[in-house]
Amino acid sequence: MNLFRQIPKVDKIEKILSHIPKKVLIPIIQQTLENIRNGIKNGKITEINEKSIIKEIEKKANDILSPSIVNVINATGITVHTNLGRSLIDPEIFDYAKERSTHYCNLEYDLEKGKRGDRYHHSAKILSHLFGSESALIVNNNAAAVFLILNTFAKDKEAIVSRGELVEIGGSFRVPEVMKASGAKLVEVGTTNKTKIKDYEEAITENTSMLMKVHKSNYSIEGFSAEATLEEIISLSKEKGVLDYYDLGSAYVPKLPYGLTNYEPPISDIMKLNPSLVSFSGDKLFGSVQAGIILGKKELIDRLKKNQILRMFRVDKITLSLIEATALAYIKEEYDKIPTLKSIFQTTDELKEKAQKLLNLCPGLKAEIKESHTYVGGGTMPNRKIPTIVVEIKGNAKKWEENMRKNLVIGRIENEHFVLDMRSVQEDEIEKLSEIINNIISCEIPSQNNNIATSQLKGQK
Ligand SMILES: *Cc1c(COP(=O)(O)O)cnc(C)c1O
Repeated sequence: MNLFRQIPKVDKIEKILSHIPKKVLIPIIQQTLENIRNGIKNGKITEINEKSIIKEIEKKANDILSPSIVNVINATGITVHTNLGRSLIDPEIFDYAKERSTHYCNLEYDLEKGKRGDRYHHSAKILSHLFGSESALIVNNNAAAVFLILNTFAKDKEAIVSRGELVEIGGSFRVPEVMKASGAKLVEVGTTNKTKIKDYEEAITENTSMLMKVHKSNYSIEGFSAEATLEEIISLSKEKGVLDYYDLGSAYVPKLPYGLTNYEPPISDIMKLNPSLVSFSGDKLFGSVQAGIILGKKELIDRLKKNQILRMFRVDKITLSLIEATALAYIKEEYDKIPTLKSIFQTTDELKEKAQKLLNLCPGLKAEIKESHTYVGGGTMPNRKIPTIVVEIKGNAKKWEENMRKNLVIGRIENEHFVLDMRSVQEDEIEKLSEIINNIISCEIPSQNNNIATSQLKGQK
């Protein structure tokens, strides 16, 4: 019988798969049937199976329709996990941005004068107040802040940086390369492990625009090492009439637990030194949305605003409202509205409770609650261990890791066991986590990403 005639008709497939949007379905049907016709022509296809053709089309359509960004349960213990989205946003803070974004707002409109206004003044007021700076500016991320500052003040001029601070952060941000791209001339001083304030002083020329300090973030030098303090850099800059700029990377407000504050001062201590410019990420320890927050002297911030490049780094009303709401929470000392801080402040007793709750919900699970340690993450406080509590699961660690990952749970392997670190698991995820574990134990793995992703989508309606 003629194979071509056995090919199912487009209408028929459309009817059977009527639950799939036509915009996705029709091109896939056409493409699939075209491939089949070609296959018949060149003899590669010798029989037609209507059912499997329809299945194939449905699978292709589902691949397109299933959401790409899905929620995962972060059981790595790392609070500021760049690969898993860094800081979480509190629902109440999110509502604030939702309200501003689902209606028109005065983003760039001056309500007093009745004419065009400036989008950058909105969060500047509250941020300046919070951090005790003359002015503030929000850009797309901290990388953009670094670029903008260098491009504005150090283009075709020299910016002096310690060799110990020419770091690479997260693979895509290399201090020397960002400096080069900005047009600044990098002048390296000191050595990898030692840089003294005298090294900066000797490098200053007529063409020097600034002394720049970069937080080493995900890297640290132990042992025989020394660096010029920010205080020294600021006072030398003032004396020589050049700018000082600190790329701080991450900033925190209240005193942190576990002695973390001893290693890095809070932003308030830094601002007391009266620096020219400081910048940091909005979504690291500050615990808000992706943004670059620049603090400093009003005259300098005003010059940044005049740089045309700012247009390329500008932030949306959603970002501005999220930063504003976060800053307001800080001012009111409502730290429980900053999920990143909440996660770091959890005591091991609270974490134990969470772990016990999980085990109670998984009676068939062979596991033990253990003390361990983790890190804050996001390049903040490298090498600074903080205590945590893990659920150590018995059995093949690799298999558990893979099974859990297929069910969108990301844990870690420690001492050859798969562990779930309770520090980064949200309270409202425990039940879901237990269901996933119980399903894996009873081998009815509710198959993979797609199903869960689809159910997430349904839940969003
Ligand atoms: C994280 C970091 C950056 C990059 O910040 P993004 O907000 O991710 O662009 C730049 N400098 C330092 C020191 C950092 O720690």
